Amino acid sequence: MKKNHQKTHPNYLIIFLILVFSALLYFIFSSKDFVFKGHQNERQESAKKTKKEFKDAYSFFFNTDFIPNKKIIKVVAGDSLQKILLKEKISKEEVNKIYQKIKGIVDLTKIRQGQTITIVFRTKQNKPSISRITFQVDELSTAYIYYRDKVDDYEVRLNQKNLEKVNFLAKGVIVNSLFASAQKIDVDAEVIVEFARIFGFEIDFQRDIRKNDEFQIFYERFEDDEGENFKNGNILFAYLKNSGREIKLYQYKDSKNNIGYFTPDGKSIEKALMKTPINGARLSSGFGFRKHPILGYNKLHQGTDFAARRGTPVMASGSGTVERASWFGAYGKYVRIRHNSTYKTAYAHLSKFGRNIKAGKKVRQGQIIGYVGSTGRSTGPHLHYEVLVNNKRINSQRLKLPSGKKLSKNEMGNFNLEKQRIDQLAEISRTNK
Ligand SMILES: [Zn+2]
Repeated sequence: MKKNHQKTHPNYLIIFLILVFSALLYFIFSSKDFVFKGHQNERQESAKKTKKEFKDAYSFFFNTDFIPNKKIIKVVAGDSLQKILLKEKISKEEVNKIYQKIKGIVDLTKIRQGQTITIVFRTKQNKPSISRITFQVDELSTAYIYYRDKVDDYEVRLNQKNLEKVNFLAKGVIVNSLFASAQKIDVDAEVIVEFARIFGFEIDFQRDIRKNDEFQIFYERFEDDEGENFKNGNILFAYLKNSGREIKLYQYKDSKNNIGYFTPDGKSIEKALMKTPINGARLSSGFGFRKHPILGYNKLHQGTDFAARRGTPVMASGSGTVERASWFGAYGKYVRIRHNSTYKTAYAHLSKFGRNIKAGKKVRQGQIIGYVGSTGRSTGPHLHYEVLVNNKRINSQRLKLPSGKKLSKNEMGNFNLEKQRIDQLAEISRTNK
């Protein structure tokens, strides 16, 4: 704008330059510390100073108290809003005044390293002062701090996004992969992953899926005021037609607050135990007599060994309670999980335990309980896995896996109501088709 201005009115340019020049002269002769600082100033700093002096001069000549100057500041480690304002040469008195206003409305501890704070300055008696501060408090709220001229005070506002829960039914046909087909109809990756998890060990989404298999994902979305999907909620219903076989799963929270997915007749498709509690491993030694690699004599190997690289995650092969997660003699770092009154599983030679894996903690099937290692009496990284039935070790690979549990008669009544409710919701929900 200014450039155009100068081109069309050359005499304005001359006036402008005279003003700048006289302003500089004014400051050179009036500024006390100019001489002292002048020697050591680096070029950059003096340029900054000139800029500031120009502004001050501008306000001197035009007698204005308001020069808007916007600055976007990136928060660094150890910063606080107060520190930032002081660094910007705002007086302690003003910083304190602002702080007193904000406190109780905005949680300043939420300011994070790397986020930005936008500050609009005004100039008050040639000193920088705050006109406006804006920053994101968290994902959902933005803080605005304004200077109000009329009352000579600050006003603080917290603008909160309103999220609306929307039930969304995504229906699709698989062309190449579930992932690609679901993403095409606007389903977020995290929802697709959760959908696959629900089918657990019943469907292997890499190997079992065929072209033209159908899926439905009925889930909650939380949309902001602009209709943007802000975050995803629970999957209420999952449907898969795989090679002609239909599986329908409803989310249900039982009377003990356990959330699971059940077929319309109240069965869980989760197998009670996984056969292999580790991904990408090779069965290296089965259950039975073998020459022990360290002890040298024939010994009954009462477990199954899976060779895998050190650090490979080991999963809980079934839901249950951790009975032990500690060093256990020749087993090294060892985890044992109690699944029910009959079944337990044990995992040995781990390099380390999973997060929060301690005796007494509940674990879910598939949850990471530790990582492959070679602790205890072991010749190299592998997982030694045991299944115990009534505390006796049995061959996990021959085990006829008990199928998932069925809801009790008491639970079935509530489950049927919930199923109806979900079906009705799905009928009136938004869908991609
Ligand atoms: Zn072993």
